[in-house]
Amino acid sequence: MLKLYNTPKKQLETFSPKTPEKVTIYTCGPTVYSAPHIGNFAAYIYWDLLLRVLKKNGFTPYRVLNLTDVGHLTSDADSGEDKLEKGAKREGKTVWEIADTYIDLFKSDFKKLNLLEPEIWARATDYIEDSKSLVEKLIKNDFVYETSDGLYFDTSKFPAYADFAHLDLNHAKAGARVKFSSEKKNLSDFAVWKFIKPGENHTMRWDFLGRPGYPGWHLECSTIIHKELGEPIDIHAGGIDHIPVHHTNEIAQTFGAFKTPLAYFWLHCNFLTINGEKVSKSLGNILTLNDLEKNDFSVFDFKLWLYQGHYRSERNFTFSDLEAAKNRRLSWTNAYLVSLQLAEKAPRPSIKTSEFTSDLLSRLNDDLNSASAFALIDEKKETLSAPDWEYVEDLFSLNLLENLKSDSFSSLEASLREKIDARNSARLKKDFKTADALRDELLTRGISLLDTPSGTFWQLV
Ligand code: AMP
Ligand code: ZN
Repeated sequence: MLKLYNTPKKQLETFSPKTPEKVTIYTCGPTVYSAPHIGNFAAYIYWDLLLRVLKKNGFTPYRVLNLTDVGHLTSDADSGEDKLEKGAKREGKTVWEIADTYIDLFKSDFKKLNLLEPEIWARATDYIEDSKSLVEKLIKNDFVYETSDGLYFDTSKFPAYADFAHLDLNHAKAGARVKFSSEKKNLSDFAVWKFIKPGENHTMRWDFLGRPGYPGWHLECSTIIHKELGEPIDIHAGGIDHIPVHHTNEIAQTFGAFKTPLAYFWLHCNFLTINGEKVSKSLGNILTLNDLEKNDFSVFDFKLWLYQGHYRSERNFTFSDLEAAKNRRLSWTNAYLVSLQLAEKAPRPSIKTSEFTSDLLSRLNDDLNSASAFALIDEKKETLSAPDWEYVEDLFSLNLLENLKSDSFSSLEASLREKIDARNSARLKKDFKTADALRDELLTRGISLLDTPSGTFWQLV
């Protein structure tokens, strides 16, 4: 029985979708104006575990991931520059080139991490007509008013506005009164459509209601969900930064347009930090997957490091902790290798489920408790069978046999068994000089030998 922590209710709840053969999931995607960083990927690595755990519980996830290529301003309060326009200026490219470049980079990093592809990659600018019709519905239902710079959602017309994030709107208003001088009726009102003023430099523009403009950032998610999934969806996920503004606004828009809730379950991951500060493009403290690789780490070491904690806890990243995760991963690789060599020696029928796999899944069914699942793997690793390790890979996709796919390993592989046999027969003949020379040669090529009562096994150094 899978239990997940549902944000608005602030409690663990049993997850039982209406249609197990199509569990509808939406995970808020990146704004594609610069290189994605390890903080962004933390979110998608957590949601990958969610998808894999759902599958092991017999559900079939159907997931949409959006790519924000318009409308996300540098300030969440509907002011500042469009981030895509900012990226274009920085790099001397068009906004369309910027979007294409960073969508490609995001997708290739996504693939590198071996994350499950969404059923639909939804690019915001492919949904402009749908976005306009959502705004038209909001106008018709009297949720929108006009200011000099756009169409705004009147949050006072949605009485439940504050509920999702447990917002104290009166308090927020009092604190912000000094700054609150725009034409907005309420501090929490937000733009669903922005007008482009004459002379304003905004490349992405569409005619709507007789003038040029572009959609407000929050609009795309309500629009895409309506078009591709149909609300309410089973699970909506994003970072905790989305609770008070972005998700709250998505809920308001969807209610305003369709009179329905947006999602049954809301999952939010906490931040990845460096030196206690949120990793973010605007703070300029980002690391990319490339940076990890340049420092001689695999992106899968990062994944393992992340899963050592829990998606709802803040994680502070350091290279020394990543080093420890790398060692843990190597120890699992080696235990896996021994299980494979044992299976070669004495083939066993593959066991679909074992006590270990059901224990592992039940730990993950407790709100994706990967840290507890990892403790179990460490405890049992010497006794796990090859199918048990496959099950571990199905859930965490840690690419434990990654180094075996390297060129240096494949050139060695053909002669590996012969060398081990030659070394063992030299040992039997008490020709220790030859035996040691062979062992040393293997060591220089990254292979160590493990002599046990059930035979000799090779492992990676
Ligand atoms: P953005 O491109 O900033 O809109 O972010 C895309 C996704 O990554 C959102 O779900 C964010 O909540 C998430 N995200 C961004 N920065 C971090 C971080 N430092 N830690 C965890 N998640 C993050
Ligand atoms: Zn969203």
